[in-house]
Amino acid sequence: MLVVSSPSGAGKTTLTRELLNKEQKVSLSVSVTTRARRPSEIEGVHYKFITRREFEILRDAGELLEWAEVHGNFYGTPRAPVEQALNEGRDVLFDIDWQGTLQLYDKVRTDVVSVFVLPPTAEELKGRLVRRAEDTPDIVSRRLRNALEEIPHWAEYDYVLVNQDLNESLNRLRAILTAERLKRVRLQDIEKFIDGLLSDLRKIAS
Ligand code: 5GP
Repeated sequence: MLVVSSPSGAGKTTLTRELLNKEQKVSLSVSVTTRARRPSEIEGVHYKFITRREFEILRDAGELLEWAEVHGNFYGTPRAPVEQALNEGRDVLFDIDWQGTLQLYDKVRTDVVSVFVLPPTAEELKGRLVRRAEDTPDIVSRRLRNALEEIPHWAEYDYVLVNQDLNESLNRLRAILTAERLKRVRLQDIEKFIDGLLSDLRKIAS
């Protein structure tokens, strides 16, 4: 499970979409949210947009792997698609906040790799939120204030990326994914491979 978190406007969404374009065997976990859909967002692709009542039903039935209230709205990760993708041997990418990340740690810390994305400067963060122009000035201010509460959680993450340049950040994120996939504990069938290798070696060494 690859978790990417950041304050709104740090470029995380662009980064994660690019990663999905480039990487095989990675599925995006599509969250449910009670937030209103932005004009550019597509139901079922960016989020599943649901009512607060629907959210409560899912949460109370234990169908959310994690959930949190962010910027006054509820967000959560449906459990079933994540379990299905993992069972099929796919990695799952999560675009969730620090509260959700800590909940995933509680479940399966060794299976979670977390990355915190930071903007290069405060001005750039504001500029990206304003340029996005899909949120009202009120919402932009709220998200900026929220960044002050989110950024101090950087130290709970395995990796930190300062997103100065999208391509460079994408390369670094892919490097993290590759290295984490190559960790000994995650290599499937390695013991079988080594047994075979040793057995062949014994034959030619004697
Ligand atoms: P936005 O409203 O800008 O799409 O997202 C606001 C924040 O909610 C982002 O930091 C995003 O990562 C976080 N978020 C989105 N989906 C989830 C989720 O399912 N769980 C949690 N905990 N946070 C989420």
